[in-house]
Amino acid sequence: MTKDTQKKTVLDKGFVEVIDKLGSDLTVVNSARVSFGQKKQEFTERDRVLVRYLAENKHYSPFRHIIVQFHVKAPEFVMRQWYKHVVGIETSSSYPAKDHAWNEISGRYVPVSDFYTPDKWRAQSSDNKQASEGQVENQDEAKKVFDNVMNEILKSYDNLLELGVAKEQARVILPLNQFTEVYWTASFQAVMNFIDLRDHTHAQWEIREYAKVIKEFMFELFPETTKIWFEVQNK
Ligand SMILES: Cc1cc2nc3c(=O)[nH]c(=O)nc-3n(C[C@H](O)[C@H](O)[C@H](O)COP(=O)(O)OP(=O)(O)OC[C@H]3O[C@@H](n4cnc5c(N)ncnc54)[C@H](O)[C@@H]3O)c2cc1C
Repeated sequence: MTKDTQKKTVLDKGFVEVIDKLGSDLTVVNSARVSFGQKKQEFTERDRVLVRYLAENKHYSPFRHIIVQFHVKAPEFVMRQWYKHVVGIETSSSYPAKDHAWNEISGRYVPVSDFYTPDKWRAQSSDNKQASEGQVENQDEAKKVFDNVMNEILKSYDNLLELGVAKEQARVILPLNQFTEVYWTASFQAVMNFIDLRDHTHAQWEIREYAKVIKEFMFELFPETTKIWFEVQNK
C-alpha cells in the first residue's frame, strides 16, 4: 500500500480515494447537543466524553450525520463482498433516508482493461472452509496456470470485440479478477460496520487490504470520533 493525501493504492492496480465528505468530529456532538439547543465550535475534552457516552450506549444516530464518498477501484470478487453492505438502501424510490449509495463503471460502455494478479497463491485453510492459510508449495505452477488462462481469456475477449460483438455480451467470458470502479457513499456508522466485519481475520485478505485503507482515511478525516469508536468497540 502506498499513500498520498487523498488517494491510496491497494493491491496491484486498485485504489481508494476520498471524493467528498460531510461533517467533522464536531458533527456527532453537535447532532447530539441539538437536543439541548446547544452547538459547539471547538472540539474539547467534554466532547470526547460525550462521543464515548454515545458509542458506549449505542446512541448511533448522531454518527450517521457524517457521510463520506469514496471512489474505489477493486477486483469484482472484492466488490461482490462489499456490495453486501446495504443497510438503509431503499431501491424502489429516491427516498432520502438511504444510507449507502453505490454507482459503478459499466462494462457495457467501457471495455474491461485491468485484472488483478495475486502476488502469492494462498493455500486452502484446513479448519475454515472459506479461509486460506499459508501458501501453496508450487507457486510457479500456480502462476503458470493463472497466466495461461488469463492470456487465453484476454485474447478471446479482444477477438469478440474485433468481431463487433457488443461489450455487454463479450464481457460474459471475463473472470472475477477484473477490476471495477465504484463510488461508495456511506455514513460514519455504516463505514465502521464495514471495517468491523472486513478488517477482520475472518475476512478475505484482499478485502481486508481495502478495509485497512478505509480505516486509515477515517482516522485522518475524523480522528477524535474514530479513535473513540474503536476504543469503545475493542473494550
Ligand atoms: C467473513 C464473512 C463471510 C461472509 N460469508 C457470506 C456468505 O457466505 N454468503 C453470504 O451471502 N454473505 C456472506 N457474508 C456477508 C454477510 O452475511 C453480510 O451480508 C455482510 O457482511 C454485510 O453485513 P451487514 O448486514 O452488517 O451490513 P449492512 O447491510 O451495512 O448492515 C449494517 C447493520 O445494520 C443492521 N441491519 C441490517 N439489516 C437489518 C435488518 N433487516 N433488520 C435489523 N437490523 C439490520 C445490522 O446491525 C447490521 O450489522 C459474509 C461476511 C463476512 C464478514
